[in-house]
Amino acid sequence: MAARNPLSEEELSCPVCCDIFRDPVVLSCSHIVCKTCLQQFWGTKGSQECPHTERQIKEEFEKLHQFLRDEEAARIAALKEEEEQKSQMMRRKIEEMNGEISALSDTIRNIEKEMEAEDVLFLQVRISFVLSFLFLSFCDTNKKTCCFYLKGSTFALIF
Ligand SMILES: [Zn+2]
Ligand SMILES: [Zn+2]
Repeated sequence: MAARNPLSEEELSCPVCCDIFRDPVVLSCSHIVCKTCLQQFWGTKGSQECPHTERQIKEEFEKLHQFLRDEEAARIAALKEEEEQKSQMMRRKIEEMNGEISALSDTIRNIEKEMEAEDVLFLQVRISFVLSFLFLSFCDTNKKTCCFYLKGSTFALIF
């Protein structure tokens, strides 16, 4: 069992002077205030409010404001995290796209190389073809029987 403590420390001191009560007065709300402090408080307020209850209300408001500030800070932090996650996702997508683009450029380079190689091959075939015709003409002029077979890119000269 917890020890009984019906009055908190702040309830044991005057809410106005924050000191030990001098000539204490008990109000209808059962709060205690120094008589001179209460008169001074009522004089400045212009109304007969309990300084303790007013301080409690102020503290409750302060707590509420603090709670709202904390809530807002938490919401802002959550938003920042969400934005951070979004930008990370964007960065990852951009990296992926860059990867795909570089893979595509590699493919294009390979195709270009193959095309260059094919160009060379095609040129070689053309040269062989031209040379064959020259040879055939030579054969003709020399009145010899020459046969020319073309099989794909392979040339065969048969006499
Ligand atoms: Zn006092
Ligand atoms: Zn009170």
